[in-house]
Amino acid sequence: MSTPMHLVDLPPEVLSLIVNDMDRDTLLALCLTGKRILHEIARRYLRQNVMVLFDACRKPKPNLFSFDDGRLSAIRSLSLVVHGYIELDSKLCSLVFMKMVNLNDVRVVGGPGVLVRWIVESTGASLTTVELEGCDAEPQDFVGMAPVCIRRLVISRCHSNIRFILGPLTVEELEMYGPGLDGECMHVGVALRRLTGGHLKGLYLIDTCRDRGCRDIVHLTRALETRLGSLEVLVLDIPLPRGAFEKLVRTVSVYPALRRLCLGGVPSSRSLQSCGGYHTLDVTPFSLIAKADRSRLQEDSKAAGMNAPVLEEAAY
Ligand SMILES: [Zn+2]
Repeated sequence: MSTPMHLVDLPPEVLSLIVNDMDRDTLLALCLTGKRILHEIARRYLRQNVMVLFDACRKPKPNLFSFDDGRLSAIRSLSLVVHGYIELDSKLCSLVFMKMVNLNDVRVVGGPGVLVRWIVESTGASLTTVELEGCDAEPQDFVGMAPVCIRRLVISRCHSNIRFILGPLTVEELEMYGPGLDGECMHVGVALRRLTGGHLKGLYLIDTCRDRGCRDIVHLTRALETRLGSLEVLVLDIPLPRGAFEKLVRTVSVYPALRRLCLGGVPSSRSLQSCGGYHTLDVTPFSLIAKADRSRLQEDSKAAGMNAPVLEEAAY
């Protein structure tokens, strides 16, 4: 009879993978175990992934400002969660953030725009992903900000002024979810029109605008015509007026690298007849379009003598 295998008999790489999926409480419990290998993996993981809570009291929890240099440089992923109004010392924050030389991912929840700016500016060299949720911002928060280049920026229900970070911050992938904090549209089209450098590869705008007559759609269409020819993925789930939809499809159908286009909030699909081009796309998933509209799109394109669009469920 073979002897049963124990968790700690697994190779360290496999143990690391298992530990990666554990929540913070389990990791803390693991740090108390007598099994040295588990203890070490859990401890390392906790040091690399840090969540800090700022609330009305002066010290954040855990107190980031008391971490030594070794602890700050060990951080790979940082969440800053802010409850309510806080006053922060810009010099102290920047000094601490600058020591996080290995920081890859940062998430700020409910923080002010200046906090976002300080951390992005201070850790720009190693940063790849920035996620912002419910953050407030003033237009001047990003004035004179040092240029930083990252891979992915995700903005969920932040104040519309947060868009001013685009420009100083260059991204390959931009994901925006929901309208602004006050329920107003995220005026992202106008921000994208002003982009000068960078090559945006992925653009996802989900529910950022709720008004079919919105001026920002005009800016977005213009940005797509003039600035965004490098896009590989374009996902728009916002109400598009018919004219804008036709123009948009015509524009993006000649993008050389585009491999996925998802459009939601499309008015009547009759318009497809007048805007050929779908057939030039390898992949045209329509999963964001209502089923009825999808079949009408296919009929319309057949009637127009085009290849039927390739129907494919988006991979998310
Ligand atoms: Zn709008």
